[in-house]
Amino acid sequence: MIFSGYADLIQESREKGEELWHYILLADANEKGISEEESMEMMNHLWEAMKMASDNYDGTRKSASGLSGGNGAKMKAYKEKCISGEFIGEVIAEAISMGESNACMRRIVAAPTAGSCGVLPAVLIPYCRKYQVPDQKVIEALYLTAGMGGVIATRASIAGAEGGCQAEIGSASAMAAAALVYLAGGTLEQTADAAALALKGLLGLVCDPIAGLVEVPCVKRNVIGAVNAITAVDMVMAGVTSFVPVDQVIDAMGEIGRNMLPMYRETGEGGLAATPAARKVKQQDFRKA
Ligand code: SF4
Repeated sequence: MIFSGYADLIQESREKGEELWHYILLADANEKGISEEESMEMMNHLWEAMKMASDNYDGTRKSASGLSGGNGAKMKAYKEKCISGEFIGEVIAEAISMGESNACMRRIVAAPTAGSCGVLPAVLIPYCRKYQVPDQKVIEALYLTAGMGGVIATRASIAGAEGGCQAEIGSASAMAAAALVYLAGGTLEQTADAAALALKGLLGLVCDPIAGLVEVPCVKRNVIGAVNAITAVDMVMAGVTSFVPVDQVIDAMGEIGRNMLPMYRETGEGGLAATPAARKVKQQDFRKA
């Protein structure tokens, strides 16, 4: 969806007397040429697919490269002992599990991309489990994430190849933060502020996948995106605001992405991908295995 700005979305929805999530739903239905009910069904299908991907995680699987697999299961077993508390332990486990499922070619929901597929479910699933959030409310929150994602894609980018990892994990973190504020009963302004804080925290993050695979550092960066979103939400719900409005943060992210050297934009040639440890992986011909 093409949206010029999140502040505009809030204002337009209020002018039309619509709740923001429903205003975005109408835009989605209009863009796809479908009914409101069909749009809701599609969003519900995405939520169900996310939960199913979580339920179907298999900790015994390894990716073809051998770089990914099993850490989600380790985190699940450890979560009660987490220094950051059991809830964050669940969030970490969920984020890693989803990232590993993607690396193992299992079914996941790209949100907004496959590389960042673990952030949104890692924030939503443990929260909804803990607070027994009805599916309808989650679907409403998902429309806010779609709106936020649409704004980011319009004003900047959601692709690592264009804007670095800030555009993938950063965007996912901002989208998840907006959704979680909504579920936590915050205002629309607070959804904007939480997204701004989340994205600000990840500005400049480069895309440097080892051997060009969406595995290292991608899988564990989903954890950072998820936990970053939750801390942004907690700050906002406590009354903290973002000095820079979210639309301007998105513009800054776009500017940084445009000025990022190509070696930091998914080419697998810079950053972590250029370390000796990464070069060893690159020399392996595991793709033929
Ligand atoms: S490092 Fe690149 S490929 Fe990996 S999650 Fe980030 S943007 Fe995606």
